[in-house]
Amino acid sequence: MLLPPLRRALLGCPRAGLRWQHRIAVEVTNEPILEFKQGSPERAALQKALNDLKGKTEAIPCVVGGEEVWTSDVRYQLSPFNHSHKVAKFCYADKDLLNKAINAAVAVRKEWDLKPIQDRAQIFFKAADILSGPRRAEMLAKTMIGQGKTVMQAEIDAAAELIDFFRFNAKYALELENSQPVSIPISTNSMVYRGLEGFVAAVSPFNFTAIGGNLAGAPALMGNVVLWKPSDAAMLSNFTIYRILLEAGLPPNVIQFVPADGAVFGDTVTSSEHFCGLNFTGSVPTFKHLWKQVSENLDRYRTFPRLAGECGGKNFHFVHSSADVPSVVNGTLRSAFEYSGQKCSACSRLYAPDSLWPQIKAKLLEEHRKIKVGDPAQDFATFFSAVIDDKEIFGPVLTVYVYPEKQYKEILQLIDTTSPYGLTGAVFAQDKHVIQEARTLLRNAAGNFYINDKSTGAIVAQQPFGGARASGTNDKPGSPFYLLRWTSPQAIKETHVPLGDWQYAYMQ
Ligand code: NAD
Repeated sequence: MLLPPLRRALLGCPRAGLRWQHRIAVEVTNEPILEFKQGSPERAALQKALNDLKGKTEAIPCVVGGEEVWTSDVRYQLSPFNHSHKVAKFCYADKDLLNKAINAAVAVRKEWDLKPIQDRAQIFFKAADILSGPRRAEMLAKTMIGQGKTVMQAEIDAAAELIDFFRFNAKYALELENSQPVSIPISTNSMVYRGLEGFVAAVSPFNFTAIGGNLAGAPALMGNVVLWKPSDAAMLSNFTIYRILLEAGLPPNVIQFVPADGAVFGDTVTSSEHFCGLNFTGSVPTFKHLWKQVSENLDRYRTFPRLAGECGGKNFHFVHSSADVPSVVNGTLRSAFEYSGQKCSACSRLYAPDSLWPQIKAKLLEEHRKIKVGDPAQDFATFFSAVIDDKEIFGPVLTVYVYPEKQYKEILQLIDTTSPYGLTGAVFAQDKHVIQEARTLLRNAAGNFYINDKSTGAIVAQQPFGGARASGTNDKPGSPFYLLRWTSPQAIKETHVPLGDWQYAYMQ
């Protein structure tokens, strides 16, 4: 697919030597979210794609060294709301295959890193265009059937967010070339944005298709080679992303697609001398475990590895007595229950003043009764579906704390100190003074802070996402800062005046 003329013109490579003076600007906007109304073409396309998947089991190999490989350790991904439907048959890479993948990736690293960023960015623009157009319905259907998402939850994740990650990352990577040091008449200074020296391990979760594509894609865009271990429960959608990237022109060895047992993957990658980065999203225990393994193996590595991890949260909605009750009720229902509460940003703690609680409670219960739980592919009125599996409380559970209205300041302190996490949170209040107090007291309680809006639904480039404390390293995917994690800049000075003497003038 051809790029629009404007984008092509702006991407034109500047003349060599003047590169540091040339400013690149790339126009990108957020992908529109489709509505899937009755009779719309997108609804018809999605229904066809869902029908095409009925009863089908897709065979998903490991892809190592540019070749599809099957091992004897065969696994299945089940549809969460219909366990009789095996949506994917895949196999685990063992330690030997993972080591082959490391060697194959490292072998192409230099060539990939030397490819101009303009060329690398084009691949991601093209992948975004494929996702936005011809493969959108397929991606949504696979995310719905495989991960139990509704139409809208699949659309905002597997279409809009993934497309936005690819386009905005490519834009930010191109514009990073504008960040250049000061040059003076006698010397030219420049910064080269190199990939990291080694391979990056991308370990992705089940709950966002887009995160899989971003964890593997962002380092690759920046000139890195990647071993991508997707979640067993998101294999179908994640393999489709991988194939789309190849179709868009990603050379075969840049990303090795290696489903594997978590512990085998973690042990193998962290014990390789070539390990130079971890791009992880998942639970706190897994991230801490990997971090400890990296520390234990530190002496083996050729370079200090970059560790990026986005983990969980116990996110809050704080309601002040001046709040708009419908916004509280509707925002909380969406945040706590959409995608069965399986979003890292889902609200699990609601703090309501005693003066408003009777109203809020009555309305919450009234609306909650209308929520339809079921098969999201059969019935588009379904609001949420089955949780992914029975391993952990990561589901539609909302706790409520009712406080004496006048004690709201103490409650803000409590919110700040009662949880080890710091991911997302929202304050509902019309009183501007209270909003300002909440902003100050909750400054460290959330990396994504919402005022009169729910705690979920961050959009790439609008609300870059992530939190600190136990919620992760807060590297803000969806912003230019995230890409800085995946580059190791080289500063170059070129002097134009010969050095005629070793002695300084003051010495004479
Ligand atoms: P998980 O920690 O169980 O698994 C995440 C990934 O790690 C999977 O691919 C898994 O196979 C792998 N893994 C497990 N053990 C491993 C090991 N020893 N070494 C290497 N890899 C290993 O998490 P999950 O259940 O897939 O995802 C849900 C979690 O992710 C929740 O806690 C959620 O809050 C969090 N999450 C956070 C964000 C965010 O941006 N902050 C976004 C989405 C999900």
